[in-house]
Amino acid sequence: MNLTSIKTIKELLARHGFAFSKSLGQNFLINPSVCLKIASEGRDVIDYAPCVFEIGAGIGVLTKELSRTCKKVVCVEIDRALEPILAETLADCSNVEIVWGDVMKIDLAELFAQKFEGEEEIICCANLPYYITSPVIMRLLEERLPLKTITVMVQKEAALRLCSPVGSRDCGAVSVAVRYYSEPKKLFNVSRGSFIPAPSVDSAVIRLKVHGGERYRGDVSDERLFFRIVRAAFSQRRKQLANPVSEELNLPKERIKAALSACDLNTSARAEDLTLEEFIKLYNNINRENI
Ligand code: SAM
Repeated sequence: MNLTSIKTIKELLARHGFAFSKSLGQNFLINPSVCLKIASEGRDVIDYAPCVFEIGAGIGVLTKELSRTCKKVVCVEIDRALEPILAETLADCSNVEIVWGDVMKIDLAELFAQKFEGEEEIICCANLPYYITSPVIMRLLEERLPLKTITVMVQKEAALRLCSPVGSRDCGAVSVAVRYYSEPKKLFNVSRGSFIPAPSVDSAVIRLKVHGGERYRGDVSDERLFFRIVRAAFSQRRKQLANPVSEELNLPKERIKAALSACDLNTSARAEDLTLEEFIKLYNNINRENI
């Protein structure tokens, strides 16, 4: 069955009485070359066929491609209405397992331990539902799941933010977190016409090479506090970061300015002026004396 043919998809969905859910971000891929590219880019830094964790199977178009080229695919899908459809479309994919549930609620560490026991090469590939793009990526990174790479389709604007260097105009708190745990790279754009139904924005595929933040761990003893400072700094990104950070930590503004100064940073610096290393220096100065 050709899962990128609009005629085949419409016939399949009609036969099962399936209606797209906008709130679940159901825009299914109909561009075969994009599926191929996501699957091959995900494997690119891996020596041999890895296991894959997928989020959101839809009608199984990417799942099928991953099944063809990878050792095992475990996919979490929230919408049970897709169950009879996937039973049909993935009938010949014996290395695929669908786990029914919400990826934001499932215990992922336990799921990985159960489904990928003994496996070392695990990657994540997905055409992500847009309403949970950043939270789901942050979950995968913060929980230090044993993933080598995360290759995901996201909205074009989200790709820009997620891959922005820290200390650049497009950087946000999520860019700092992504760089803390991984090396992000934007791979290619995907036009809105590559989906059914077509979304109102274009998309892009990004790949995060995960290193888990080990290189910074020695300098960041309290990651919760570090990211509180980062998030507060970006909460008013066009303003001097001393204001929101002092409010968040309940410290005098002058104390934060003194910390900036001690780190050779401008006391009127904004969040987007700081590199990741400078954020870490600032955190250490604040943490040493006050928290
Ligand atoms: N992989 C398919 C494709 O490329 O055509 C479908 C991608 S579609 C953009 C996103 C999929 O994620 C949908 O099938 C949707 O039902 C599912 N989904 C949405 N929210 C989810 C959640 N919280 N947990 C798991 N799956 C979710």
